[in-house]
This record gives sequence, C-alpha cells and structure tokens, in this order.
Amino acid sequence: MSYTPKVSFEFFPPKDELGETALFETVAELVKHSPEFVSITYGAGGSTRDKTLKWTKALKNDYGLNTVMHFTCYGNTIESVNALLNELHQEKIASILALRGDPTNNPTDIKSKAFDNAEGLVRYLKTSAPSFEIGVAGYPEKHPESLNIAEDISFLKRKVDAGASYIITQLFFDNVHYFRFLENLQRARVDIPVYAGIMPASSYAQVMKFTKMCAVQVPAKLSKKLDGVSETEAVKYGIEFSIEQCRSLLEQGVCSLHFYTMNKHPNIKTILENL
Ligand code: FAD
Repeated sequence: MSYTPKVSFEFFPPKDELGETALFETVAELVKHSPEFVSITYGAGGSTRDKTLKWTKALKNDYGLNTVMHFTCYGNTIESVNALLNELHQEKIASILALRGDPTNNPTDIKSKAFDNAEGLVRYLKTSAPSFEIGVAGYPEKHPESLNIAEDISFLKRKVDAGASYIITQLFFDNVHYFRFLENLQRARVDIPVYAGIMPASSYAQVMKFTKMCAVQVPAKLSKKLDGVSETEAVKYGIEFSIEQCRSLLEQGVCSLHFYTMNKHPNIKTILENL
C-alpha cells in the first residue's frame, strides 16, 4: 500500500528585503508539495509580533495556505492576547501554536508575561476563542527544564487537556526518541496528531548550535560526516541524512512531517522528491 505523507513547513519572518524575496521564492517552490499547513515563528519576547502576523496573513491570502501563527507567553499581556485574537478573527485565521517562549535579556519581557507556561495560554485561548485550533510543542528528548521524561509528558498532557488539538515536535535526529515519545503519549492516553519535527542539517556549526540550545542528541554518524567538510558537502550529507531519517519514519507508519525550513527550499525539495 502506498500513501502520501502529510508535510508542513516552518518559516521565520525575514529581517530585511533580501530575506523577504528569499522567503517568497521558498514559499513559491514549497507550495508545489501541497503542505497541510505552514507555520510562522514568533520572535523571542514578541520581537517579531507584527512581522509574524503580516507573514501569517500574506501566506494565507497570497498562496491560499492554511497558516498557523506561533505565539508566546513571553512578551504578551492579557490585553495583547485579546488584541491578537481580534486581529486573527478579522483575517479569518484561526490557528495558533501556543508556546511559552524563552526569556530574553530584556527585563520588561518577564513583566509582560501573562502566563507562566503554555498550558495557561492554551486554556485562555480555548476559553476566549473556542473555535480556534490550538497546537503545542512536544519534546521527544524532553524539554531541557523538565526533570525527567515522565514529568515532561505530564506537562504536555496538561496542555492537551487544556484544549490543544495537535503537537509539533522539537527537532530530533534519532528516530528512537520519537518512537519512545509516541509510546509515552499513548501510555498517557494522549491521542492527537503529532507532527515530527525535521531539520535538514546544513553545517556542523548549525547542528551543534541548535542541538545545544534544545538539548537534542546528535548521532555520531551525523556529526562525524559534517565535521570539517565544505558547506556544499555538509548540505549534501544533510539531505542524505534527512531522506534516510524520513524514510525510516514513513516506513514505520509516521505520516506527518514538519520541516524546519530555515526559509530555504533546495534541500527540502530534494528530500521530498526522494521520499
Ligand atoms: P511549556 O509547555 O510551558 O513548558 C516549558 C517548561 O515549563 C517545561 O519544561 C516545564 O518545566 C514547565 N511547565 C510546563 N507546564 C507546566 C505546568 N503546568 N506546571 C509547572 N511547570 C510547567 N519559541 C519562540 O520564542 N518562538 C517560536 O515561534 C517558537 N516556536 C517553536 C516551535 C516548536 C515546534 C517548538 C518545539 C518550540 C518552539 N519555540 C519557540 C521554543 C519554545 O518557546 C521553548 O522550547 C520554550 O522553552 C518552551 O515552550 P513550551 O511552549 O514548550 O513551554
């Protein structure tokens, strides 16, 4: 039996005109793969609020895509959450990825944090705008602040019980963590779609930076291949690695892949064409 996996893409709001042109180009290429949805990140502490909203609207209106706006507790007050809900309502955008966010160096961010964690934000969004579809983040290798996997799963379950209807995972390179995560969710009776977060590697430095930040393990096979090679070689191997990783996920019944695109398309296209 063959089936087409569902794909979705994450983009971030570009900083300048050059970045905007690159993102339009990327979107134009990736829409050819009929994404189930695309999501737009929200800068730390709310630093990209207006741009995130602008791109969420643009990708919906210009490309007819289902767009999901990321939104964080950090950088927001109850008033700003309400204002956003009104704006999204007017634009007929009804999908939010509700996140806690991470503290920035700006001390005013902490004061303007309306909720301690994403659970509170999910509950508030679901109560204020019941028709909105709310997604949340999940961590196959646990969130760095959780004491252990069991605690992490219990926090995730609370977000789902508060009203989240799907989970997008943190990036991972070793599928063992993802399948263990699915088993733990099943045991906790969390039965909603889980989108597997895939980040194609493009350099040793990039992989080390992201995995350190997110406390994600890098298989020795991947780090050895990336270490000391040219950028072209690293991108090429990153593609090969992602194809193998996604193929193995699909073979084991996973049907939703969420790509962290970094606003680039050639590597993602090659991966998808090979699956
Ligand atoms: P939470 O679910 O609130 O969990 C954070 C920590 O809080 C947990 O480890 C736990 O220690 C504690 N906790 C959680 N629930 C409870 C509870 N009920 N009681 C007590 N303690 C609790 N960041 C951005 O700034 N912008 C983005 O656009 C963005 N997009 C992301 C997309 C994805 C798919 C992922 C995986 C992450 C994204 N992040 C983004 C990063 C995210 O904001 C950080 O990982 C952040 O540290 C945690 O966010 P969360 O929503 O998972 O937090």
